[in-house]
Amino acid sequence: MATVAFFECLDYADRAAVRRAIDGIFEAAGGAEAILGHGRRVVVKPNLVMKKEPEGGATTHPAILEAVLEVVLQYTSDVCVAECPGGLGNDAVLESIYRVTGIRAVCEKLGVPIARDRTAIKLDFPQGYAAHSLDLLKVMAEAEVFLNLGKLKSHSLTGFTGCAKNLYGAIPGLFKVEYHARYSEIRTFCEVVLDLNRALRPALSILDAVIGMEGNGPTGGEPKFIGGILGSVDPFAVDAIGAKLIGITQEEDAPILRAAEEHGLLPETINVVGDDYQAHIQSDFRLADAQRFNVLRDMPNLFGGRLKRFLEPHPVISKRCVGCGECARVCPGKAIEMKTVNGAARRARIRKRQCIRCYCCQELCPQKAVDTKQKSFLKL
Ligand code: SF4
Ligand code: SF4
Repeated sequence: MATVAFFECLDYADRAAVRRAIDGIFEAAGGAEAILGHGRRVVVKPNLVMKKEPEGGATTHPAILEAVLEVVLQYTSDVCVAECPGGLGNDAVLESIYRVTGIRAVCEKLGVPIARDRTAIKLDFPQGYAAHSLDLLKVMAEAEVFLNLGKLKSHSLTGFTGCAKNLYGAIPGLFKVEYHARYSEIRTFCEVVLDLNRALRPALSILDAVIGMEGNGPTGGEPKFIGGILGSVDPFAVDAIGAKLIGITQEEDAPILRAAEEHGLLPETINVVGDDYQAHIQSDFRLADAQRFNVLRDMPNLFGGRLKRFLEPHPVISKRCVGCGECARVCPGKAIEMKTVNGAARRARIRKRQCIRCYCCQELCPQKAVDTKQKSFLKL
């Protein structure tokens, strides 16, 4: 049995409510001292998927990071914030992500450093379900206490993202692209997420569900008010309650949880303490188009998966494309080329046969210019 603590929080500006939630989550998990010890090296990982304002619902809100750091600083000064956002950003891009998401201001206010060393290490992981070695950001892999601050959002590839999927951000830039290509089948991709959680063993997983994201998440959707913060020592238990909050009732809408269940990682019983989370369930929550359209999610991989891939919803470039080329740089299938249109503006074009349906282009397009299209004969 696992315990998840849920606390209502209606507004990030209500510092007392945020702090009550964070204190309550630490307490329900056994107490801050038991989790943090004294003087240990603590690494805190928010979800900073891309450069977005905190109000956008795509990134962990700085108010939650601030409350967590206030607790941590009572037990150690050896703490840093680390993240490896999506895309292949250089130092300048990363700096602008920390600034715009409001994370840098919190770190400066509390005197907590941001880990800027993006060195990767290869961790042997023979017990992995999918990956028998993992490329990880060194600072995260070497943490004595690793705190995972996820964000509750819809997700084109995995249905939704919470705490477990947040650890995909422990894989440094170029390796993320490589992993998407290598583990392109959804089940094995989800097993990699399980492996990351088993390898990094977060001491506490906290899910920011005050304002989440619905629609074409994890970056291209719309903010959705949910009104709570939850957490547990068990990332899968937190996500199971997070899934309920956004009205996910079908297993196929939550492939990471399904994989966790199949591998015995999802607790059979979850005890929810704190406030009444059921009062915050969003029955009208919209999943990403790629999920809503994907009526063949559970189809077996016939013909080496080619039939399923042919039938799956595919990304299409809309007129909103400004030709920045980010999608082409991150595309694991090398399926995107930049084309000159009418002799002037550049625009992305997808070679469908090479597309592995990872939806990274949709996730990382700064213009929300990638839509999802379903085969017309599959439309209900
Ligand atoms: S689709 Fe988006 S990411 Fe790709 S080139 Fe166009 S604007 Fe840039
Ligand atoms: S075109 Fe988009 S969905 Fe297809 S492989 Fe490239 S990034 Fe993934």
